[in-house]
Amino acid sequence: MRAGYARRGKRDHTTHTLETKIRHPIRFPRFTGEMSEGRRETQPTQNSQIGVLKMNNWYKGNIHTHTTESDGDADPDFVTRWYRDHGYDFLVLSDHNHRTILEHEIEGGPLMIPGEEVSARILGGTVPIHLNAIGIRHVVEPTNLDDIVATLQANVNAIINAGGIAQLNHPNYEWAFNHEHITQVEGASLLEIHNAHPAVNTYGAPSKPSTEEIWDRVLSAGTIIFGTATDDSHNYHDYTPDASNPGRGWVVVKASELTVDAIVEGLATGNFYSSNGITLTDLTITEESIALEIEPDRSAIFVTTFSGRDGETLSEIEGHSASYQIKGDENYIRSTIRSSSGTRAWTQPVFTSA
Ligand SMILES: [Zn+2]
Ligand SMILES: [Zn+2]
Repeated sequence: MRAGYARRGKRDHTTHTLETKIRHPIRFPRFTGEMSEGRRETQPTQNSQIGVLKMNNWYKGNIHTHTTESDGDADPDFVTRWYRDHGYDFLVLSDHNHRTILEHEIEGGPLMIPGEEVSARILGGTVPIHLNAIGIRHVVEPTNLDDIVATLQANVNAIINAGGIAQLNHPNYEWAFNHEHITQVEGASLLEIHNAHPAVNTYGAPSKPSTEEIWDRVLSAGTIIFGTATDDSHNYHDYTPDASNPGRGWVVVKASELTVDAIVEGLATGNFYSSNGITLTDLTITEESIALEIEPDRSAIFVTTFSGRDGETLSEIEGHSASYQIKGDENYIRSTIRSSSGTRAWTQPVFTSA
């Protein structure tokens, strides 16, 4: 059952030097489902993003998008042209339980990565369980079981077996699931920490953790999963606060080239940052430090918060540059950048020994 994991932990030449400073006590997510021939080898990997990551070969994309093939209000051509016209390099059309493929190429259009929102509804119809399947080779039929963790796991397994990577979508939509469920699921690569749909309760409430708090609890429990921002766009004609419009959440992926395999690999290994409005012009992660540069935006003031175990703040820096020296006992370190105009960006966690 371990075939396909051979590359884990030794897939990059920096691993050797890391062992002095950053050890690997956190357990890797194990894929325990049935193996298929076509599945990708790439699974969430700790610290695979370490290295000096200059902003060459960074590609912007949206990985959660609906069209008229499910409940979106524009056809796949129209939707793809919207993303092309707004500077996106790649796009995942993720219709509910449908693998939407364009019938013809859009001139100058983004790289199209096959996808689907695998959508289950369980426990008498009260709990929606949605997962995005990214890079799948065939459609994935949703599995509905009478338990939240079992349903999440069965659909993650089906996505991996279809050659894709799995993203757990909008946990707070109808308050469907939380960190206690997610930490029991193995093999999911991504968690939506900023889904821009107005109905998904991203920010939580005093009695409910926000999706970012859910992410910190999952990371603190030792599960490696990377945080994404997405549009979950449905409405392409009318732009209002209660519509789910495009352009409100995206990922910027570092990849060797703009191909399906390279982008999916970049997502699966945490080589990306997420944003709903902030652009990074540099992101350098080494075994010693995390450093980033933020693109100025009119008179906006930026604050970067480096946080660790249980979401605890490690340091806070105002300005267009921020860096953090890794001590080694943080458990993990990630950064959240906030602007005075309300936008945010998030980098992926780097894991340490304690
Ligand atoms: Zn959904
Ligand atoms: Zn959706």
